[in-house]
Amino acid sequence: MATIATEEKRCAVCGKTSVQGFVADAGREGSADLDLRPPPDQRETIAHWVQECPHCGYCGVTLEEPTAGAAEVMASDDYRAIREGSNPELVVRLLCASTLLEHAERWVEAAETALWAAWAADDAGADEAGAQARRRTLDLLGEVRLRGEHYIEDPNAETLVMADIARRAGEFDRAAALLDGLEAVGDPRFTAIVAFQRERLAARDTGRYTVQEASRALA
Ligand SMILES: [Zn+2]
Repeated sequence: MATIATEEKRCAVCGKTSVQGFVADAGREGSADLDLRPPPDQRETIAHWVQECPHCGYCGVTLEEPTAGAAEVMASDDYRAIREGSNPELVVRLLCASTLLEHAERWVEAAETALWAAWAADDAGADEAGAQARRRTLDLLGEVRLRGEHYIEDPNAETLVMADIARRAGEFDRAAALLDGLEAVGDPRFTAIVAFQRERLAARDTGRYTVQEASRALA
């Protein structure tokens, strides 16, 4: 069971206060999905991973922490379009945070929050929003790599996660190209997941699987 606590936060952009929830504690049981989406106890807390100021619309992991250039981005047509679109509320909040982080060139966090938006879209049954958020995540992870940064320390593990994100977005060629780069990896646990992904790609399957399911399927 997860514990959500609340706290009054002062917004770094408009200076007004609001009561915000945050995850004080969450369980760690179960297997993550192939794209790192955590097992149920943790993922059910996703509504509290990013806070949103009810006064000005600033979104961030904690409202008190400023994001460089936020006020300017928030006044832009792009930001307004995200907020006024038809996506589910939580997806919007996560995409807003991701957009602010992108403009601040905080690429790893921008990619991570975009991936969270994909998971929130899955939970809301918003398939197109999920695919869009995944394509955004892949583009941002491309930026991460371009700068020699990493979302996951082991670059092969990162590529494997990116392949799953691409497959889940229906970007089958992009996923296959990422898997091609992993053929030389000798670790058998890796080989099993690569083979599982290849099989799912051949079936043009965009479904969600846990690491445990993938490892077992070809054991
Ligand atoms: Zn505010």
